[in-house]
Amino acid sequence: MAAAAPRVSPRFFRRAQAHGFCVPDIPADVRAKCVAGTSTRVLDGRFVADALVAQCGALVAQKKGQGGRVPKLVVVLAGEDPASAVYVGNKEKMFAKAGFESETLKIASCDTTLEGLLSVVGELNARADVDGILVQLPLPAGIPAHVVLAAIDPRKDVDGFLKENMGLLALGDFSGALPCTPFGIMVLLAAHGIPLESKRAVVVGRSNIVGKPMSLLLLGEDSTVTVAHSRTTDLAALTREADIVIAAAGRPLLLGKEHVKAGAVVVDVGMHRKSDGKLCGDVDATFETGVAGKASALTPVPGGVGPMTIAMLLVNTAAAAWSKPLS
Ligand code: NAD
Repeated sequence: MAAAAPRVSPRFFRRAQAHGFCVPDIPADVRAKCVAGTSTRVLDGRFVADALVAQCGALVAQKKGQGGRVPKLVVVLAGEDPASAVYVGNKEKMFAKAGFESETLKIASCDTTLEGLLSVVGELNARADVDGILVQLPLPAGIPAHVVLAAIDPRKDVDGFLKENMGLLALGDFSGALPCTPFGIMVLLAAHGIPLESKRAVVVGRSNIVGKPMSLLLLGEDSTVTVAHSRTTDLAALTREADIVIAAAGRPLLLGKEHVKAGAVVVDVGMHRKSDGKLCGDVDATFETGVAGKASALTPVPGGVGPMTIAMLLVNTAAAAWSKPLS
């Protein structure tokens, strides 16, 4: 019997593929899951993220057998922001599950200075056992995040935020670390078999960590991309033309039924805690006033983009570790 042809990865996944990762396959029952009572497919991010964590576990065992290293991330958590503490806790859990190492350096707000943070980053840059450095944002008031981030060695920039990595992406070169949230969205869409070539995509939001890199990644897969932002007029007219809508405005329930055309694929990046304690996104996901029943597919909140972001942090840390020569 002829050997199965190796799967061809999309361009944005080639760096991960070079280290042994593949875009996860999704079983038919997961693919067929719909928002209750509608034909809108649920783009399950938790399933895809778990599959990537499992790949990490298998790859780390294989690399160890070949004398390779166990990837290690150090998170710098300055200040007492409660949401940051939750994010960092989730990252630690996922790293442990993947068999990777992680360490969190906690610095109290009252002990945080720019000089101190630069010195911590300098030490982490020099440590041979550290593959990835993540400075959790936001930093305490008065500390310029861009100065601290710029001090990270680009080879350890597993967030993909530095100009060296963003610059490559802007040039259509996918060999650097890709920003985790848009990278995760691309993997999620690929895993769920959503075609991008020649599709019209509208990205709502132009931040350096989500909207801008998202638009570049979609361009790289030959979508026709429009970026909307806070000064865009008549947002609904724009998003209604899109085959794919990426909602990353950071505004709870900004997009409703009137913002999408029938059959659109909607990715909800937003993450907000409502007064009743429940989470919601930038998209109204209800049937009555929202996109359920009108969109062909939708990412849930939680369980969509969030777990993918952490999974891509694992992949970027692995790529940083396994790009180094064996010691
Ligand atoms: P940001 O505040 O830096 O950027 C928001 C962008 O949205 C800006 O470019 C702004 O111009 C645009 N915008 C604001 N209001 C708008 C409006 N009414 N119409 C059109 N555009 C508008 O936010 P960010 O860091 O890019 O994050 C966006 C959202 O995604 C936030 O809710 C954040 O919590 C969430 N997020 C989630 C994850 C995850 O892993 N799930 C990761 C990163 C960010």
